[in-house]
Amino acid sequence: MPYPAGRHFLQIPGPTNVPDRVLRAISAPTIDHRGAEFSTLAREVLAAVRPVFGTSGPVVVYPSSGTGAWEAALVNTLRPGDRVLAFETGHFATLWRDLATTLGLDVDFVPGDWRHGVDPEVVGRKLREGPDIKAVCVVHNETSTGVTSRVAEIRRAMDEADHPALLMVDTVSSLGSIDYRHDEWGVDVTISCSQKGLLLPPGLGFNAVSEKALRAAAHATLPRSYWDWQPILAANERGFFPYTPPTNLLFGLRESLAMLTEEGLPRVFARHRRHAEATRTAVHAWGLEVLCLDEREHSPVLTAVLVPEEHDADKIRALILDRFNMSLGTGLGKLTGRVFRIGHLGHFNDVSLAGTLGGVQMGLELAGVPIDPSGITAALRVLGAP
Ligand code: PLP
Repeated sequence: MPYPAGRHFLQIPGPTNVPDRVLRAISAPTIDHRGAEFSTLAREVLAAVRPVFGTSGPVVVYPSSGTGAWEAALVNTLRPGDRVLAFETGHFATLWRDLATTLGLDVDFVPGDWRHGVDPEVVGRKLREGPDIKAVCVVHNETSTGVTSRVAEIRRAMDEADHPALLMVDTVSSLGSIDYRHDEWGVDVTISCSQKGLLLPPGLGFNAVSEKALRAAAHATLPRSYWDWQPILAANERGFFPYTPPTNLLFGLRESLAMLTEEGLPRVFARHRRHAEATRTAVHAWGLEVLCLDEREHSPVLTAVLVPEEHDADKIRALILDRFNMSLGTGLGKLTGRVFRIGHLGHFNDVSLAGTLGGVQMGLELAGVPIDPSGITAALRVLGAP
């Protein structure tokens, strides 16, 4: 294969394109993780990350993927056999259910069609029927479907049911890209990781922790050691970790948080909403269908596009990669072959989206999918609006 000139277009919904500024920060020489310089770095990033979660409370940082942060949230707060309420919004909600079941939790998994988010009314009903439910687990942005659940409304439904369950929210693909408010929405554990809206490579997992979650941790008996919040929070007080921390990713985090602050979170969120709108405009103009069915739940960070039955979405993705050096997200779980996902999050601007949608349109045409070529023009009109 000839050398592919130009940059690869990484348009999967995470890991996302890492800005050069962050790559340069990560490439600094590793420092002593027990020295004063590290302590200053750790204290700085542990404080600076809080506003991104919308919290003034502690954020635990693990050298892990998002899956580790899921496990940490559960083992720190629950006991074997505890009942938890979860919702089948897509592939990642299903994986989290599987993990919880493996840990010995009793998961009440509300079935879903993978085209809608969590219904706050169902949350309220389930809680009224289940006084023994200990936690409600919600995936804020289902990366497999491009559907964003309405966490503030879910919180309201929990309050109206006057139920003491903990609220745990997975923000793996929403944090730093979609408006999120840990404290204001009364979330007890917010789970996240580094490789999407936080503009970093994979490798950091996060738990933002409420006071109620810390109280639950005092009585939780699921086995935990590495994931235990207490020794980490105690060491963090002095700017250290109980194990060797991912020093260079923390250099990167300091830089990416500075970038988010420079742009301003409200602008970051508005940029993502605009790019999502332009993308949906293209999809509709092509004559194709967006997977998400509820206007209130369209994801600002990715769009899952249904392909006509007689086409295989993965073959279209392979063609686009081969021909245009661009990666799109695959259909996961029961959506395999049925959708491709366009990631429009992170280090991304209008011209990146124009290029991305151009590549998708050319790929669809080459694959013989019957589309109306006005899609790209319609999207450019949204992007170029005064
Ligand atoms: N939750 C969501 C919403 C995700 O999108 C992902 C991964 O993409 C995960 C959890 C799992 O994270 P990881 O693959 O980093 O373990």
